[in-house]
Amino acid sequence: MVRSRLFWKLFLGFTLVNVLAAVALVFATWAWQKDRAAQLVEQELNTAALLLTEDAVAWAKDPSEANAKRLRDLADRINIDLRVSRSGNQTLEAPKHGRDRDAAQSVHTHRILSDDSGGVGELWLERPAQTLTQTLGKLWGVYIFYAPLVALLMVAAGYGVIAHLVGPVRALNRAARAMANGDYQQRAFITNRDELGVLARSFNQMSEELGQRLTELQESDRRQATVLGGMIEGVIAIDDRQRVLFANSAAGKLFDFLPPEVEGRPLLEAARNHSLHQAATTSIDSRTPQRLEIDWDERVLSVQVTPLVGEPATGAIIVLHDTTELRRLENLRRDFVANVSHELKTPLSTIKANAETLLRGAIDDKEHRGKFLRGIDEQSDRLSELIHDMLNLARIESAQQPFEIQSVEVSRAVEECIENHLHRAESKRIELTMSPPEGEAVHLVKADREGLRVILGNLVDNAIKYTPEGGAVWIAWGAEGEHAGRRVRIEVSDTGVGIPEEKLTRVFERFYRVDDARSRHLGGTGLGLSIVKHLAQAFGGSVEVENQPEQGACFAVLLPSG
Ligand code: ADP
Repeated sequence: MVRSRLFWKLFLGFTLVNVLAAVALVFATWAWQKDRAAQLVEQELNTAALLLTEDAVAWAKDPSEANAKRLRDLADRINIDLRVSRSGNQTLEAPKHGRDRDAAQSVHTHRILSDDSGGVGELWLERPAQTLTQTLGKLWGVYIFYAPLVALLMVAAGYGVIAHLVGPVRALNRAARAMANGDYQQRAFITNRDELGVLARSFNQMSEELGQRLTELQESDRRQATVLGGMIEGVIAIDDRQRVLFANSAAGKLFDFLPPEVEGRPLLEAARNHSLHQAATTSIDSRTPQRLEIDWDERVLSVQVTPLVGEPATGAIIVLHDTTELRRLENLRRDFVANVSHELKTPLSTIKANAETLLRGAIDDKEHRGKFLRGIDEQSDRLSELIHDMLNLARIESAQQPFEIQSVEVSRAVEECIENHLHRAESKRIELTMSPPEGEAVHLVKADREGLRVILGNLVDNAIKYTPEGGAVWIAWGAEGEHAGRRVRIEVSDTGVGIPEEKLTRVFERFYRVDDARSRHLGGTGLGLSIVKHLAQAFGGSVEVENQPEQGACFAVLLPSG
């Protein structure tokens, strides 16, 4: 309470008013008492004059010593100064209070003495002011005795009344300040039944309701933030001056900024994209949604800008969708369709041309018809191989092919593969061998047995295809890595034509051929390596390719150790 400015203001004001009122009261009563005392003295003097008149007349008529004595005694008894003068100029004086008194301060009265025959003399009576001063002095004494007592009572009463008023105001003030600092639990405990009590109750109710609203708002904010934060799409909210109000983390990732840092900054500064800025301007100005696609940092972003309601628009919401992958898949599909059509067109047109030639009469040409029929047969095989590879690849990619993943012994699979391709290798005078790792260890991989057969078959088939006569193809394998990351590396190497360095990364793409004519001539579909890559990935492995230091290529398949 001592530190409350309001308390001191009220308390000092109250005390000052009381002091002024007390001083005014003292002076008013004092003046009133003074007048009253003077009136009393005057009344006394008049009464004394009445009492003394008879004896004064007696003395004026007969100035004997006996009459004079009686007059003096009487004046003495009623404590008054007296002077009587006779018509014969003789004067009688009875000064009770001495000559040193201040005549100007005294109270006087004067009477003409007369009898039946007319005036006989004059009578003067006087009361010294001393008596009056003494009476008033006593009055001051009373004031001085009671003043501190009254002052003390006033201060105590002032303190009580003001503390009773200021206490609740301070409690309210404390609660309001706590509320301003975000503490909505704070309550003002006031028991007053007056307006302050009502105010406190209203305040508490308001604080509770505000607290509840705030909790609800925070809850809804949290929900909103979770939803927006979990979205794949980038979301940026801007105001009418294109300052960022909010951005979710997906938008931050797309434009490489930290969402809290760009809040309040211009959109152009945060996203650094002119097209986006332009679209936002148009959308806000025309109050119409805008749709556009922007190329950003090797990505394609599909953007939708929706103006916020209001006239003029109070801002806009920008939703960004990364369509890079979608676009890539679309391109892949388009390329695939084009490639397939192209691949099918060649054998089909050959078949059609040969069939037409035969129909036009070549069928009767015994010498040449065999050539046309063989052409049809060859191209039908090629078509069927192509379709077979495409179906296989589609099945592997869509994960429809049910694989039976088991531990497969690598040496067994390699031996089987060599056995299957030995005949073809020999026909090209190619040495097909395997070089098992040193030691007794048995190498197992986790794979589908048939899948591993396809992988090795395709690689060895290619190696024989792209290796000239008299060359060599060999299969080697060995373990790599430790513990859970342990894998088996199977390498198929040859002494063939090899692959130009710049094309090494592309050989696993569908329909990709280093040398189109040669591949077609050798009966390749361009899908073999693609199938190898997808199978290896389906088994949790990967593929690699490099050229041999001297001559030929080396394809490696890495499969999880079984
Ligand atoms: P293809 O049916 O044409 O052989 P692949 O997908 O099996 O299709 O191979 C893709 C391309 O990679 C081939 O056209 C060929 O140019 C190249 N290639 C594959 N294996 C080898 C190899 N062992 N040596 C040289 N080039 C190879």
